[in-house]
Amino acid sequence: MNFYDSDKIGNILKKLGYGFTNNLAEANLIVLNTCHIRDKAVEKTYSDLGRIKKTIEINHNHMQKPIIAVAGCVAQAQGEEIMKRSPWVDIVVGPQAYTELPKLISKVNKIEKQRLVNIDFPTIPKFDFLDHNLIEQKRSAFLTIQEGCDKFCSFCVVPYTRGPEFSRSTESILEEVKFLVKKGVREVILLGQNVNAWKYKSKTGKNWSFGNLIEEIAKFENIFSIKYTTSHPLDIDIELLNAHKNVEKLMPYLHLPIQSGSDNILKKMNRKHTVKDYLKIIEKVREFRPDIAISSDFIIGFPGESSEDHEKTIKLINEVKFSSSYSFKYSPRPGTPSALFSDQIDESIKKERLLQIQELLKIHQIKFNKETINKKMNILIAEKNKKNQFVGKSPYNQTVIIENVLNPKFQKETIKENNEKCYVGEIKNVKIIKAFQNSLEGLIFSENKLRN
Ligand code: SAH
Ligand code: SF4
Repeated sequence: MNFYDSDKIGNILKKLGYGFTNNLAEANLIVLNTCHIRDKAVEKTYSDLGRIKKTIEINHNHMQKPIIAVAGCVAQAQGEEIMKRSPWVDIVVGPQAYTELPKLISKVNKIEKQRLVNIDFPTIPKFDFLDHNLIEQKRSAFLTIQEGCDKFCSFCVVPYTRGPEFSRSTESILEEVKFLVKKGVREVILLGQNVNAWKYKSKTGKNWSFGNLIEEIAKFENIFSIKYTTSHPLDIDIELLNAHKNVEKLMPYLHLPIQSGSDNILKKMNRKHTVKDYLKIIEKVREFRPDIAISSDFIIGFPGESSEDHEKTIKLINEVKFSSSYSFKYSPRPGTPSALFSDQIDESIKKERLLQIQELLKIHQIKFNKETINKKMNILIAEKNKKNQFVGKSPYNQTVIIENVLNPKFQKETIKENNEKCYVGEIKNVKIIKAFQNSLEGLIFSENKLRN
């Protein structure tokens, strides 16, 4: 979501005449977009701010100091603290208020030494102001359709930093898809803190579900692939299940965080579902789309987590056989209920349990990846890497490195056609020949039976 927001911030600034640079030293405006989800991400904000300070001290002795803005959720949660700890920061702007950046920048420009904080939740949603993606030509694009959260899990800052649940209008989403298609985008990844909580009542009175929205996006001829993230187990409904069954362009991949395999812990986390509920949902999803890849998030060492609770998480992982997953040590977040729980777990135990969980998740991931060997799948070629290989994602969200047909080693087995051709943006039928933990290796096999 921060990538999407950064892109939009870039568009707003471009209109003011700013251009991009990767070189910090030559920037006259620096925007640091930040994440507050875990303590590590917050620490990174302050170390990045230190690095920015050093760079400008070295490089701007005789030049005007660049304007420095901190955006995102750390800005939202710790605006005043950032201003106090980092006197070189000029602007602090929250994730809902960055459409105000032009005004803030012009004030900083005009009135020297003025420092400004805007962490409002405006009554008119930011999407009403957003400009279309002007920056890069991409084949796969993020598209935020939902923001915020009303669920208040006891460990999580999102309801405080991103505000209450908000669904963007169907019209504005479809308009953005149309624009992206015009720019050559062939895959959209729908984003939301709880993306499947998206719902919208249109002016004509139609009640849109998330599944309906997916069906509508699939009608764009040039869209080859639709994905979404992150889903909440309690927001999976029949329309979404039907979309997985009927919409060919919706990829068979579901990221469905459970956080823990123990009901005790889920209750303390305020997740409002049990392990059994979760397993039932997975069973249902697999009934509608048998080959679907399921991934999850786990928080390890939540307050009060006993070794029995930990064992239950291990049992759950072995039962579901996730295709991949993210796992994190529990990080107490200021202002959240669980940060005040008295039964916090020792860092060393958290670390040990995390390693064990990650080892197990890795085994399942490799196994899942190996099962795709010899399978043929249609893949959107998203880019060419530095090694002259093509890169795309499998329908199950695995990264696939595709040997360029130029490579003589593979020329016999692959199609012989115009060697100069760049396949980026095209859909190719790829045969998987090797599988590793984090990627697959494939060959462009034939041009037959392509959907697009
Ligand atoms: N809305 C999604 C998750 C969004 S936050 C859901 O409910 O599933 C992304 C992930 O960050 C969470 O799934 C969780 O695993 C992790 N996370 C959030 N707060 C955390 C904390 N305090 N400590 C460690 N991990 C956390
Ligand atoms: Fe955070 Fe997700 Fe829980 Fe909302 S549902 S509070 S975003 S973990």
